[in-house]
Amino acid sequence: MPLITQRDEVLEVFAEAGRNAWVIPAFGVENLTTVEAVLSAARQQGEALGRPDLPVMLAMTNRYPERTQSAYYTHTRQWRLGLELFLADIGVLTGAGSPFGGLRVLLHLDHIQHDLDEELWRGDLSRFSSLMFDASGLPFEENIAATRRFVRERGHEIVIEGACDHIGGDSHLTTQEEAERFCLETGVDWVVPNLGTEHRAGVSALRYARERAREISQSVGRRLVLHGTSSVSPEQLPGLAADGIAKVNLWTALERDTSGHLLREMARRAGKVAGSAAAEEMLEVGLLGPEADTASPAALSYFTTAWRQQLVFERMKRIVKGYLEAWFPA
Ligand SMILES: [Zn+2]
Repeated sequence: MPLITQRDEVLEVFAEAGRNAWVIPAFGVENLTTVEAVLSAARQQGEALGRPDLPVMLAMTNRYPERTQSAYYTHTRQWRLGLELFLADIGVLTGAGSPFGGLRVLLHLDHIQHDLDEELWRGDLSRFSSLMFDASGLPFEENIAATRRFVRERGHEIVIEGACDHIGGDSHLTTQEEAERFCLETGVDWVVPNLGTEHRAGVSALRYARERAREISQSVGRRLVLHGTSSVSPEQLPGLAADGIAKVNLWTALERDTSGHLLREMARRAGKVAGSAAAEEMLEVGLLGPEADTASPAALSYFTTAWRQQLVFERMKRIVKGYLEAWFPA
C-alpha cells in the first residue's frame, strides 16, 4: 500500500514522524524528472536508515498564480491533463515492479486557491493525501470563514492545511494569537504561519523566525507547516522538528540549484552538445570561453534530452538527499 491517501493513515504517518522527530518534506514537482529524483533520493535515504518504507510527499500547485505546476507537467499547459499525467506516473512508480514500491508516498495539493481552484477542490480528492486550502489573499476574517467552510465540507475526507497568513512580500509575522484563533475557528489539521521565509528565495534579508515558530507550536501543537523553505539557511534545517514544524514545503531550491549546473556542464562540452560550428560561433561572440570544448563534433550521447535530464536528475537527487539527511536523521 505505497500510496497513502486515507485521512487516518496520513495522520498516522505524521504521528509517527512526531515520535521520531522527523519533518515530512513536501517536495514541489512539475515534471517526471523531479518526481523520480525525489523518489530515488528517498529510497536511498530509507535504505541508509534501514527504513525502506520511508514516507515522502510530493506536492503540486494547480492554478496558484505564482506557479501553476500541474499545467507545467504537460506542454499543453492544461492543468487537468497535467494532474492526470502526474497521477498516472505516480500510479506506475508506486506500483508493482517499481523500484519505489516500498516507499510510502503521499500526494499534496499545494496552494489550492479558494477562488481559481474551485472546480478542483469541489471535485474528487480521493487520490490525494492532503490539500492546502489557500485563502490567504483574503482579509483575515474572510480567510477564516472560507477555510472553515471548506473544512466543514471536506475535512472528513482529506487532511487540510490552512494558510493563516500570506507568505513573503510583507514583514508581518503571524502572531501566536492569530495562529491559535485560525486553528480553533477553522478546524484545519495543519497551519501555515508567516515565519519570515519567502517563496522565491531571492531576498537577502530573510530570517526564519524560530522563536515565533516555537511560541505558535506551544499553543496549537506540532502541526506547523513551513513554506518558502528554500530560503532557510542549511544550519537551521535540522532544528525544525524541535520548533514544532511537522511539514515543510520546498521547491525553488530544486530548480534554482540545478539550472546553473546544467549550463556549466553543457558549456564545458559545447561541441558535443551543439556541434563544433555552433560552438565555435558562441566562442567568437563571447558566450563561451577557452575552457569550453568547441572542437568536438556533435555526439548523440550529449545532444539528447535524455542527457540533459540526467544531469538535472542527478544534481536534484543530491540536493533532495541533503534535505532528507537533515529531516530523517540516523
Ligand atoms: Zn508555499
